[in-house]
Amino acid sequence: MRQADVVIVGAGSAGCVTARRCAELGLKTFLLDRKPAAKIGQKVCGDEISRSHFDATGLDYPEDNEISSVIAGADVYPPNLRNELKVRGWDEFDGWTVNRIAFGQRLLEDAKHAGARFKQEIHVGGPIFRRDTVVGVEYKDLSTGEKKTVKSKLVVDASGFAAVIRNKIDSPFVENRIAKSDIALCYREIIRLKIPLAEPEVARVLLGGTHAPRGYAWIFPKGVQEVNAGVGVAGGSGQGSPKSLFLAFKEQYPLFHGSEVIEGQGGAVPVRRPIWSLVSNGVAFVGDSACMTNPIHGGGLGPGVRAGIILGEVAKVAIAKKNLSAKGLWSFNTRFQGGFGRRLASLEIFKRLLTDVSDADLDYGFQKRILEAGDLMAANRGDGLSMSVVEKARRVRRSAGRLSLLRRIQKTTKLMKKIDKAYANYPHTPNGLERWISNVQEIIDSAVFV
Ligand SMILES: Cc1cc2nc3c(=O)[nH]c(=O)nc-3n(C[C@H](O)[C@H](O)[C@H](O)COP(=O)(O)OP(=O)(O)OC[C@H]3O[C@@H](n4cnc5c(N)ncnc54)[C@H](O)[C@@H]3O)c2cc1C
Repeated sequence: MRQADVVIVGAGSAGCVTARRCAELGLKTFLLDRKPAAKIGQKVCGDEISRSHFDATGLDYPEDNEISSVIAGADVYPPNLRNELKVRGWDEFDGWTVNRIAFGQRLLEDAKHAGARFKQEIHVGGPIFRRDTVVGVEYKDLSTGEKKTVKSKLVVDASGFAAVIRNKIDSPFVENRIAKSDIALCYREIIRLKIPLAEPEVARVLLGGTHAPRGYAWIFPKGVQEVNAGVGVAGGSGQGSPKSLFLAFKEQYPLFHGSEVIEGQGGAVPVRRPIWSLVSNGVAFVGDSACMTNPIHGGGLGPGVRAGIILGEVAKVAIAKKNLSAKGLWSFNTRFQGGFGRRLASLEIFKRLLTDVSDADLDYGFQKRILEAGDLMAANRGDGLSMSVVEKARRVRRSAGRLSLLRRIQKTTKLMKKIDKAYANYPHTPNGLERWISNVQEIIDSAVFV
């Protein structure tokens, strides 16, 4: 390993798909991971991925042993666990829970098959620079203990939450610190139930409550008698550890009585809009390292693979034009931020509503159907919660006594539309970024719903 066109740090879902696309387009691509090859894919996750991401990217659907369950619907519960919304036909959610190892191994095989060279047990320490440009990485080969460097035209940080390259970039547009409140700390277990699930294709999402204060819990089917279940809460909120919250929840929730834990582990995921710029000189960020996750539930598999396809194409053009500066890589920003990034940013506004509204208000909103299943689907598409005049009048009647809740929902809609428009107008060159950031920051700062 001396010199490559592209060095990708991390063979998670985002890294593998980026590597595959780069190699398919004829770029000499190295894919490095600190894990041994057999453990690629292993990850603390809810394991759910929507079909829509495969349709958008052309990736093959999961097959055979990659599939744990087909998901066709979600029941979304308010804090008091009554009056749940039964969301069906939710294109952006329905899909599968996957066997993480089998799915990850397939993505790795696809990258290798396309021509990417995968190197296992390579712990990357950080970037190497020539002036303000990243020109490679330094690493330790864990099998020999040797420390070395590898040079490349482009370095891709796909190291997930660790963000081992992004953390060491000094640029005003590349955030190397993520606020604690924008990180969901999670604990999840794979559980064998005592009795089979009544609806083995329906996922459950449980908002707020004592089980997940200002956060969420989930129960995703993994076959008819197994589930992936966990809790995620905002970092730094002083709400207790996600593990203790989850264990208390399990005690109370009848589905888990008499169940057996197969595996349990904690993890963290960013839950905010993507970082301001996905590129800097000689470097690009993809997947969790770029905060490409759904701010409501932390789903990051789909956004990361969508971005990986775009990044491969951008790398090909930038290398052909011999321009690996931030400017030369900029179309990764305009294509992702101005495309799927719009949705992620809008969802951050919706997340802020869900975390600011009290449990009592959320319970009331579900009970009186001030919030409808269609709203959740529209919000997830990034569409806001548009209501006709008649519908608005109906909800005003239903909100009697708690009009402020409806007003906050309407404010959310307005801000979601505003941020969507801002992202659609992502600047075409780095010059416009500073102004754009201050505009978006203003929208984010006004998204307070207490
Ligand atoms: C509890 C929990 C539940 C979740 N549930 C879901 C869900 O249901 N659906 C969904 O879509 N998303 C979910 N997510 C988020 C999802 O798991 C991530 O968004 C996604 O896996 C990120 O992919 P990635 O490729 O960016 O990073 P990762 O999958 O984290 O891959 C990063 C890779 O980089 C390697 N690496 C790290 N540091 C180094 C280094 N120094 N040197 C070399 N290699 C390195 C790692 O070994 C790893 O293989 C969940 C996350 C958590 C924590």
